[in-house]
Amino acid sequence: MALMITDECINCDVCEPECPNQAIAMGEEHYLIDPDRCTECVGHFDEPQCVQVCPVECIPLNPQRVEPQPVLWAKYRRLQSGVAASNATTGTTEVG
Ligand code: SF4
Ligand code: SF4
Repeated sequence: MALMITDECINCDVCEPECPNQAIAMGEEHYLIDPDRCTECVGHFDEPQCVQVCPVECIPLNPQRVEPQPVLWAKYRRLQSGVAASNATTGTTEVG
């Protein structure tokens, strides 16, 4: 599953920089999670990093996005290939 941020969010800004997938961004009233980018941190960490740091525990699983582990891994790989393509474009992965 992807995770989601509820309206109990106090906009403390702590979770956004912790997300390895850049899935968290400020919405109209509070921070939101892009479910297409949230892997529950699969591929990066053992635990969802945003949940670890949120002081008000307002980041539950998103019931609209029930995704088993293989789907989360596939999402992770898709996001990584996007990162690789982006780096190739900007030349940040050049070697030698
Ligand atoms: Fe980002 Fe991980 Fe939180 Fe999903 S669970 S929003 S990938 S920090
Ligand atoms: Fe909102 Fe929790 Fe993120 Fe702070 S850590 S911005 S309260 S979701």
